[in-house]
Amino acid sequence: MQRRNTKIVNIGNTPLGGTHPVRVQSMTDLPTSDIEGQIKQIKECAEAGAEYMRITVPTLKDVEHFKTIKLRLRDLGFETPIIADVHFSPKIAIAVAEFADKVRINPGNFILPSPGGEGQGGEVYSQALHTALKPLLSVCKTHNTALRIGTNHGSLSERIMERYGDTPEGMVVATMEAVEVCLMEDFHDIVLSLKSSNVRVMVEATRLLVKRLDEKGWNYPVHLGVTEAGNDEEGRIKSAVGIGSLLVDGIGDTIRVSLTEDPQKEIPVAYNILQASRARITKTDYIACPGCGRTQFGLQETLQRVKAATAHLTGLKIAVMGCIVNGPGEMADADYGYVGAGNGKVHLYKGKEQILKNIPEEEAIEEMLKLIGNNEK
Ligand code: SF4
Repeated sequence: MQRRNTKIVNIGNTPLGGTHPVRVQSMTDLPTSDIEGQIKQIKECAEAGAEYMRITVPTLKDVEHFKTIKLRLRDLGFETPIIADVHFSPKIAIAVAEFADKVRINPGNFILPSPGGEGQGGEVYSQALHTALKPLLSVCKTHNTALRIGTNHGSLSERIMERYGDTPEGMVVATMEAVEVCLMEDFHDIVLSLKSSNVRVMVEATRLLVKRLDEKGWNYPVHLGVTEAGNDEEGRIKSAVGIGSLLVDGIGDTIRVSLTEDPQKEIPVAYNILQASRARITKTDYIACPGCGRTQFGLQETLQRVKAATAHLTGLKIAVMGCIVNGPGEMADADYGYVGAGNGKVHLYKGKEQILKNIPEEEAIEEMLKLIGNNEK
């Protein structure tokens, strides 16, 4: 996988883009005025591995709450960058940009009502967008605050809807209009996202955005997420399909898994998606066959035991296969293989090479750990 070459954007003390790891972020789900609740949730998420946290800032009064939350977290020693999520109000965005590490705006509702009127050309709108964005960009420049231009499928402006409908093309146009203003103002600390609850739209729109950016030679980093993905298995699978498809393309510098659950539950899902798409490796990788009529040992229990014994070997790919007929060939690019030979015996492999043969099952995990230990010094 060739990761898209992106510009590095500093978000507080945690840069994204370039060769930095694909960052994991989440968002609190409490009222902004609930200072204690916000702090608790952000700490829990940070401890679970969130590298950025976002807070909604719906009113000017909430700018003060945002500031208090961030300062309190810093006093407690939490350096996690804090992002302000702003809709409907350039005024709030400007006010909070002084304190936030990044501000997220939505081009679909940044200036309302959308000037220019129905059916009119884009010039009136472009001018109004420029006028509204300019002071925000100026504050961002002064305070080293990054900006996410976060377009959502469900909240495109009337003007975009009229011309393009709720299409990937419309989402890309809305985003590029805001990018162009940033470039006119020589502001480059921008991150872009195109989200939808429709996984196909999200993937298609993001691919189209990246194509347009690449055509212009603009390598701004991209944030990935499936909005309103829901909960439980469905929410996780939707997120994995949408975010994972793009990561496999080499697209994506930061991700958020949006679940209708407590935000800290999003974090392990995000890391699992990164691991599965091999975009960011943070643990041991396992390859295991499902077992079939050829399997002559307790494959499921064995996999659990192998996992427990090797969970600390971050980055290694370990295979557990159910038979010697197909197992060795099927274990793909595993670094080490545990292959059941039947009759309580196991063969151990390093890559495709068989190293130890007919090891008694009860000794096999220990022998595999020794084999790994001898080779991974
Ligand atoms: S590797 Fe062997 S045991 Fe596993 S599914 Fe394939 S044939 Fe069956």
